[in-house]
Amino acid sequence: MNTHDIATHLNAVRTRLAAAERRAGRAPGSVRLLAVSKTRTVDEIRAAVAAGQRAFGENYLQEALEKIDALKDEPLEWHFIGRIQSNKTRQIAERFDWVHSVGSLKHARRLNDQRPGPLPPLKVCLQVNVSGEASKGGFAPQALDEAVPACCALDRLQLMGLMTLPAPALTEAEQRPPFRRLRELRDRLATDTCRLQTLSMGMSGDLEAAVAEGSTLVRIGTAIFGPRP
Ligand SMILES: *Cc1c(COP(=O)(O)O)cnc(C)c1O
Repeated sequence: MNTHDIATHLNAVRTRLAAAERRAGRAPGSVRLLAVSKTRTVDEIRAAVAAGQRAFGENYLQEALEKIDALKDEPLEWHFIGRIQSNKTRQIAERFDWVHSVGSLKHARRLNDQRPGPLPPLKVCLQVNVSGEASKGGFAPQALDEAVPACCALDRLQLMGLMTLPAPALTEAEQRPPFRRLRELRDRLATDTCRLQTLSMGMSGDLEAAVAEGSTLVRIGTAIFGPRP
């Protein structure tokens, strides 16, 4: 997509997000926008950067590393949101600022052990499979009672909150229940030392439902960059 269209779409998403915040009675600016740039070129990302976007989400490690290198002159924040493979945790720990898709204690411990000392702790969200789909990664809700305090105790990770990726649904009424379940889990699990302030939920097709249910960070690809090739 050309530079001009990306800026236009990005502004339309910002307007949509502001409207969703207002409608839900949320403070303006309380929901962060993560631009999901998987499959997009460096030039497409630069167009979003020129329009003021700083945080980008990537799913595929090799592709992401090439873009992180190509854009190292820009002060960007990189979020890993894809499925984690055990043999790739080191590069994720070394090159990203955030990981949203931590789906096992084993991966949390590896990322903690591999986060380089000079860098700040890696910000992470635990991915939760709220609807129990067999094909999806992430923690089962009942596994969080153990996983949240265990991750919170890892000193090279900063546990920010929870993330979910529900099955696509068409209407807002159908979209809201999994987001509500994630918020209720957070409310139940949060403690003074582990506040779980981030709820990473909402994509191009369901951001309004997610914001209505308390999302603090939406992950938006298609609505900014157009349909993926
Ligand atoms: C691709 C992807 C998104 C963005 O989806 P869109 O529908 O293009 O906005 C968000 N989150 C995750 C985990 C993704 O893989």
